[in-house]
Amino acid sequence: MLLVSSPLESSVTAAVAPMAPFDLIIFGGTGDLALRKLLPALFHRYVDGQIVAGTRIFGLARDAQSDEAYRGRVREALQQVLLEDPRAPAALDAFLGLLHYRRLDLSAEAGWAELAAELADEARARVFYLAVGPALFGSVGERLRAAGLAGANTRVVVEKPIGHDLASAVAINDALGQVFDERQIYRIDHYLGKETVQNLIALRFGNALFEPLWKAEHIDHVQITVAETVGLERRAGYYDGSGALRDMVQNHLLQLLCLVAMEPPASLAADAIRDEKLKVLRALRPIENGSAAQLTVRGQYRAGAVEGRPVPGYLEELGRNDSRTETFVALKAEVRNWRWSGVPFYLRTGKRLAERMSEIVVNFRRVPHSIFDGLGDSAALAPNQLVIRLQPDEGVKLWLMNKVPGPGGLRLRRVPMDLSFAETFGGRQPEAYERLLMDVVRGNPMLFMRRDEVEAAWAWIDPIRAAWEKSGDAPKPYTAGSWGPSAAVALIERDGRTWHEDAG
Ligand code: NAP
Repeated sequence: MLLVSSPLESSVTAAVAPMAPFDLIIFGGTGDLALRKLLPALFHRYVDGQIVAGTRIFGLARDAQSDEAYRGRVREALQQVLLEDPRAPAALDAFLGLLHYRRLDLSAEAGWAELAAELADEARARVFYLAVGPALFGSVGERLRAAGLAGANTRVVVEKPIGHDLASAVAINDALGQVFDERQIYRIDHYLGKETVQNLIALRFGNALFEPLWKAEHIDHVQITVAETVGLERRAGYYDGSGALRDMVQNHLLQLLCLVAMEPPASLAADAIRDEKLKVLRALRPIENGSAAQLTVRGQYRAGAVEGRPVPGYLEELGRNDSRTETFVALKAEVRNWRWSGVPFYLRTGKRLAERMSEIVVNFRRVPHSIFDGLGDSAALAPNQLVIRLQPDEGVKLWLMNKVPGPGGLRLRRVPMDLSFAETFGGRQPEAYERLLMDVVRGNPMLFMRRDEVEAAWAWIDPIRAAWEKSGDAPKPYTAGSWGPSAAVALIERDGRTWHEDAG
C-alpha cells in the first residue's frame, strides 16, 4: 500500500494510510456546513479506510437531542455519498456509531467541564472545528483554555469569514493567538483543498517545462474566474453585510492568484509555501481612490434567467431596495516584482452568472513571428493557454496550435491537450474538505492560511472598499444569467484582451 505523507502524494495514489483514532469536535454540528460538507467528507474518508474505529466525532449545538436523533439527521445528510459510492451503504451504521451529539451553548459557562472530562485522552489528536460565526471564535478559545482543552495536541479549524476588514481580522487572530500557537490554528480556504489547485503546484514545480516560461517574458496575462449560478440562498443576512469582494476575492481568488504568481518555494514545508504566497500579497499594487474606478467593477444582479429558470433580482431576494452590496466584482491586479512586471491578473467573481465555473487561465504571449501569414484565417495563430479548471470537471487543458490532419493545404487549429484527472487517474475526485480535514488531523498546515497571509489580503482589500464607499457610486446592474455588467467586459477589452470562454 502506498502511504499518504503529503497532500501532493495523495493526489496520485488511490490507497490511503489509516489515521490513528482521533477526536473531532464540530461546534455547529447541526449547521449547514457540518451537514452538507464536513460529515459527508468524513464519511468518504471512513469508507476509504482512512478514519478507523475508535475515532470519535462530536457534533455540538444548543439544541437538546439524543445521539440517536443526531445520527438520524446525519444519515439523511449522507444520502448523496450513499448514492455515489457502492461501498458506502455497508459502512453507514459503523460510521454513524462514531458520532455523538452534545448540547453546549458556546456563549455560556455551563457544560465545558463535562466536555473536558469526555475528551480526557491527551494522547490523541483533538480537533475543534469552529463551524459557527466568527463572533464566537475568541470566547470559544478562552473557554477551551479554561477547560484545559487547549493543549499541544489540540488543533482549531476556523472558517471564513476571518473578519470583515483588517482590524476585525487582527482582533480575531489576536484572540485565537492568546490561546493557541499559530501552528495549532488552521484557517481553512476550501479552494486550496481542490485537486486541481494542488496540481497547479505539481505542474509548476514537478515539470521542467513550465517554470522557465512562467514569467512576464512569456505570459501575457492571467485570468481567474469564480462564477456561481446561485443567488443569496439562505445567507442573506451575512452576505448583504459582506459582498463579493470580502466573501470571495479576499480569500479564494487571492489565494489562487498567490499560487499562480508565487516564486518556487524551497520545499513543500508549509511555511516555505506560505512565505512565498505572502510575498505575492505584499507585492500587489494597491488599488485606491485614484485607481479604483479604472481597475475595478462591481455589480449587482437584476431579475433574469439562470439555466433556463427565471430568477428574481438581488434586491427582491433580499426583500429590501436600498442595498448597495456588490454581488459581482471584476478587477485588474498587478504583482509588482521582476517576474510579473506588466502582466495583469484579471479577477472576476459573481453570483447569478451564466454558469457555475471556476478556473485559472494562463495566457501565453503570441509567437513573435508567424510563418503562416498568407494562409488565410485557418492559419491564424491563437496564443497558447493553460486552463486550470477547478469546477465543474476539475482538470487541466493546454491549448496548442496544431495542423488539421490530411491533405488540402496547411490548415491550423487550436486544440486542447487534455490532462483531465477523471480520465487520467480514474475514480472519484475527493472533495476538498476530505483532504483538508485529514491534513488537520495529521498536523499538516500547508494548505491553510497563516495569520499574516489573511491580514495581508485584508490590507489590500480594505482600500478598494474605502474607495468604493468614497465614490458613492452604486454597483452596476447586470441581468441574472449573464456574465456580469458590461463594464466588466470593457475592463479587459480596453487592454485588447477578452475574458476566456470555454471552447471545448
Ligand atoms: P448555520 O447553518 O447557521 O449553523 C450554525 C451552527 O452553529 C448550528 O449548528 C447552530 O446550532 C450552531 N450554533 C450557533 N450558535 C451557537 C452557540 N452559541 N452555541 C453552540 N452552537 C451554536 O451556519 P453554517 O452555514 O453551518 O456556517 C457556520 C460557519 O461557517 C459560519 O461562520 C459560516 O460563515 C462559515 N461557512 C459556511 C459555509 C457553508 O457552506 N455553510 C462555507 C464557508 C464558511 P444551534 O442554533 O442549534 O445552536
